[in-house]
Amino acid sequence: MNNPTHSYDAIILGAGAAGLLCAAESAQRGRRVALIERADRIGKKILISGGGRCNFTNLHCAPDNFISENPDFARSALTRYTPADFIALVRKHRIAFHEKTLGQLFCDDSATQITTMLETECRQAGVHLFLDTHIAEVVHDSTGFRVRTNSSDVVPSLGAAPFGFKGAGLDPNLALTNVSSQTSEFRAPSLVVATGGLSIPKMGATSFGYDLARQFKIKIIPPRPALVPLLFNAADQKNFAELAGVSIEVIATSNDHSFREAMLFTHRGLSGPAILQASSYWREGQPIYIDLAPGRDVTASLRTTTARTAIAIRAALNFLPKRFASRWLDLNTPPSWTNAGLATFEKTLHAWPIFPGGTEGYAKAEVTAGGIDTRELSSKTMESRKIPGLYFIGEVVDVTGHLGGFNFQWAWSSAHAAAQAF
Ligand SMILES: Cc1cc2nc3c(=O)[nH]c(=O)nc-3n(C[C@H](O)[C@H](O)[C@H](O)COP(=O)(O)OP(=O)(O)OC[C@H]3O[C@@H](n4cnc5c(N)ncnc54)[C@H](O)[C@@H]3O)c2cc1C
Repeated sequence: MNNPTHSYDAIILGAGAAGLLCAAESAQRGRRVALIERADRIGKKILISGGGRCNFTNLHCAPDNFISENPDFARSALTRYTPADFIALVRKHRIAFHEKTLGQLFCDDSATQITTMLETECRQAGVHLFLDTHIAEVVHDSTGFRVRTNSSDVVPSLGAAPFGFKGAGLDPNLALTNVSSQTSEFRAPSLVVATGGLSIPKMGATSFGYDLARQFKIKIIPPRPALVPLLFNAADQKNFAELAGVSIEVIATSNDHSFREAMLFTHRGLSGPAILQASSYWREGQPIYIDLAPGRDVTASLRTTTARTAIAIRAALNFLPKRFASRWLDLNTPPSWTNAGLATFEKTLHAWPIFPGGTEGYAKAEVTAGGIDTRELSSKTMESRKIPGLYFIGEVVDVTGHLGGFNFQWAWSSAHAAAQAF
């Protein structure tokens, strides 16, 4: 069985969230599908997502929850495969879930249930999954796509011990098994790129999708880490590093986008949901404004009294964590005790400008913003306008969700859009 050629209707590269759903749905439509994954197991990011419980969608999903150079692009796919569609699939597999906050849906038990569900859908539809398979080359000619791989091939077989999955709820009659280590060639008229972004390289993230786009002269919006903790600049590092562990409810504003959630001080900078959200809109050199007292008129009581003292202002800040309030007052006293001086103090509390020194980078970024320029793709099918038969889905595309289940919803919606097209 040297250098075998496998012929399919579609080859899907990457068995993450988008690749798995796309493979299952297209195989259910009768397509012969090969799903090729570089890692030794499927859906590694699903497994670590949502703190191990996978925040798999958000009930309030709307196009406004996504960032893209082409903001309208996501609308069509999001409308045709909604949170309700994915919830129906989750219910079909009897996975218990709950709403945590702000429409965020999590598994009650474990993210493994989502990978098992997708794997089951793939198996039952007859998807051929090839794990631990490295792509050496992709060639496109008049007959379609040829993908050359170096691999430990994994092909469907009856009754064999599963490879890489160690039996998590598998149907033994549909188990996958390791056949041999070899070079193979896959051929298909359709090729779907679902290889994700650059976030968390130690989990196997690769630049494959972007490299392939370059090979086909498809434009890319420069990728950047998003939903990522921010680093202090040198001065803030000196002033605030000792506050590591302090958390405050704030409104963080970056490029006119505001998020009211928790902000967390770390040893090197700022994190917490408010900052992660703001980070996706932040660009090098720009400020992020922090409202430390959302909805409060902190100095109101001082303005109506003549007892305008350091003690009174400390008392007015008692809604903030003590360590932070104390540091804040070391660095920010009212310039005078007049109403104008108090107004300046109040203003800074509501719009503290932070100039981050940078981000924690892809090692800590939950997603990669930027990616395949959506103007290159059909919003209905995710197919390349230049190269018929070539599709890009999921995080590799320049569509990035807010925190809260939106990135998975984009993976599901874009996967569904492509799966209907070939
Ligand atoms: C720690 C963490 C927690 C997260 N939690 C949530 C959450 O709770 N809710 C949410 O909505 N989003 C969450 N996300 C984001 C979410 O995981 C991603 O947006 C989503 O997984 C993207 O799906 P995808 O299929 O496009 O890419 P991925 O899930 O990254 O899948 C890409 C697949 O392609 C494979 N691959 C890469 N290169 C190659 C190659 N050259 N050849 C073959 N295969 C390759 C990878 O191994 C991987 O299996 C989280 C991300 C992280 C890092």
